[in-house]
Amino acid sequence: FIQPKLQLADGWTIPQLGFGVYKLTEQQTMSTAIATAYQAGYRLFDTAQSYQNELTLGRAFKQLELPRKKLFITTKVAETNQGYTNTLRSVELSLKQLQIDYLDLLLIHWPIHSQFFETWRALERLKAEKIVRSIGVSNYHQTHLDYLATRANEQPVVNQFENHPYLSQEPLLAYDREHHIITQAWSPLGRGIVLHDSTLAKIAAKYQRSPAQIILRWHLQRGLAVIPKSQNPQRITENAAIFDFKLDADDMTTIARLNRQQRTGDDPEIVYEIE
Ligand code: NAD
Repeated sequence: FIQPKLQLADGWTIPQLGFGVYKLTEQQTMSTAIATAYQAGYRLFDTAQSYQNELTLGRAFKQLELPRKKLFITTKVAETNQGYTNTLRSVELSLKQLQIDYLDLLLIHWPIHSQFFETWRALERLKAEKIVRSIGVSNYHQTHLDYLATRANEQPVVNQFENHPYLSQEPLLAYDREHHIITQAWSPLGRGIVLHDSTLAKIAAKYQRSPAQIILRWHLQRGLAVIPKSQNPQRITENAAIFDFKLDADDMTTIARLNRQQRTGDDPEIVYEIE
């Protein structure tokens, strides 16, 4: 399939579909998953310093001889690496482990109050030095984004946060749209909790698709980027086969009504308050 891309406010583009590698730490499992994903058409690979698998991912790219220019690689600054100097030092290590000389996208993994502007200033410098093409944030709410805008020179072009039919976060999506920020959904399948929903099963039967494909298609039609994860080759391929059908408006609305504010991960407000 032709990989659809979304336009970023800084002039770069981002593949709408990506592959998340959270919890993939064993080399053979990682290499097999990456080979399958690349074959299925994924070009964006999403890791983080805290996943402790940048080295494993870098080795998989090398082993498979995947051309760097075809890849879109994202990593995230861990909470423990925030602050100006720590961020710069940690990104240097990320690049070394991934065996690459630039990142397509660098995100701040979570908002941390005490290091808020210093970490962002380091990202701005890395972008100016062309070590990173695009800079963004993860798990930022409206208040964090508004606060960042008071002192940032560069605005974030991506906000990656938890999003699935049980946590659709429409107000935050609207904020991102208004501020030309691309929303990238993490746990787009709700880590599996949404997959057994009876409403989704009915819609899946109607389109003769799996519930996972229906959910991912719903994200795409809302203009989001997605990074589903699986280590099962059949599911990796299935999750990429979402570009040859379209959900009708009624089904889009029906899925949106499943929202019940159910998180599978931490609430950024609480994490931010603790700091
Ligand atoms: P996900 O919603 O992608 O769900 C993954 C789980 O769903 C898998 O473990 C598998 O059990 C199941 N699954 C996947 N495809 C399936 C299919 N076709 N049929 C049936 N079951 C299927 O959740 P995730 O792994 O938490 O999130 C995806 C990625 O998002 C991560 O790998 C990571 O890169 C990123 N992420 C980012 C943050 C952040 O704070 N920025 C937090 C969590 C995850």
